[in-house]
Amino acid sequence: MYQLIDGKKISAEIKEEVKAKVAEYKKQGVEITLAVIQVGNDPASSVYVGNKKKACEFVGIRSLSYELPEETTQEELLDLVKELNERADVNGILVQLPLPKQIDEETVLNTISPLKDVDGFHPMNVGALCIGKAGFVSCTPAGIIELLKRSDVDIAGKECVVIGRSNIVGKPMALLLLRENGTVTVTHSRTIDLKEVTSRADILVVAIGKPKMITAEYVKKGAVVIDVGIHRDANNKLCGDVDFDNVAEKCNAITPVPGGVGPMTIAMLMKNCVESVALQNI
Ligand code: NDP
Repeated sequence: MYQLIDGKKISAEIKEEVKAKVAEYKKQGVEITLAVIQVGNDPASSVYVGNKKKACEFVGIRSLSYELPEETTQEELLDLVKELNERADVNGILVQLPLPKQIDEETVLNTISPLKDVDGFHPMNVGALCIGKAGFVSCTPAGIIELLKRSDVDIAGKECVVIGRSNIVGKPMALLLLRENGTVTVTHSRTIDLKEVTSRADILVVAIGKPKMITAEYVKKGAVVIDVGIHRDANNKLCGDVDFDNVAEKCNAITPVPGGVGPMTIAMLMKNCVESVALQNI
C-alpha cells in the first residue's frame, strides 16, 4: 500500500503558518505587500493571478494588482517594475508569465530587484541557491522539499533523480535536493536510457511536461515519486507526467494530480513574501 502525499493538506498547513507569521508582523506594525503584474488577459494567467490574490487575502498579505493591456511595451513594463523596486511599501513583485511577444521575459525578470523577487527567478537568487546563501527559491521546487519533509521522507544519502532541467523546476530542484544531502542525477531529453537511470531513484521528481509518460517500468519498487506535470487527458481530466494508476502500487509514496505539487506553489509564494521582510532587513 502506498502513501498518498497530500499537497492540499500540506499547503493548507503552510498557509496557516504564514497567516500566523503575517499576524505577528502586523502586531509589530509591519504590513507585507505583494505587487502582482499581469500583461494582457490570457485566461490561464488570469486564473493563476486570481488564485494568488485569493491566497494573499487568506494569509493577510496586501496585494496590489496591475492589469496592463496586451499591447504594453517592454519599456512601460520595465518602468513599472523599477517604480515598484523603489517603493518601500512593496515587499514582493511578481510578473505573471507568459508575457506578450513584444516583451523579453528575461529582461523583465532580471529587472526585478533580487530582494523583491518572490518567484526566485532572478540570477542573483539562483546563484545564491547554488552556493548555499540566503535568497528566494523558486516556489515549485521549494514546495516539493516541503512535501517530502512533511511526509517524513528522508532525503539525505538517497538516490534522487530529477527528470527535466528547466530553470524554474528541474535545475533548482536538483540544487535543493543536493542542499538536503541527496545524491542527485539530472536527466533530460538527451539522456541515454532514461529508464535505466530513473530505475535507480529512491526519490524520483518528474518535470517533463509530457502527459502520463512515466510508467511503472521507469520506477524502482518502493520509490517516492513526485509528479510536477499538469495536463488535461483525452477525457479533459487533470493528469500529470506520471501514469498514476500504472505506477502507484509500485511506490512507497506518490503525489496525485491534482492535489499534489500544484497547491504547494502558491503556498510557497506566500512563504517567500513573509521571508522577504527578513531578507530586506539583512
Ligand atoms: P519544460 O518544458 O521547460 O522542461 C521540460 C524538461 O523535460 C526539459 O528539460 C526537457 O529536456 C525534459 N524532457 C522532455 N522530454 C523528455 C524526454 N522524453 N525524456 C527526458 N527528458 C525530457 O517544463 P517545466 O520544467 O516548466 O515544467 C514541467 C511540467 O511541470 C509541465 O507539465 C508544467 O506544466 C508543470 N509545472 C507545474 C507546476 C506546478 O505548480 N505544479 C509549476 C511549473 C511547471 P531538454 O532540456 O533536453 O529539452
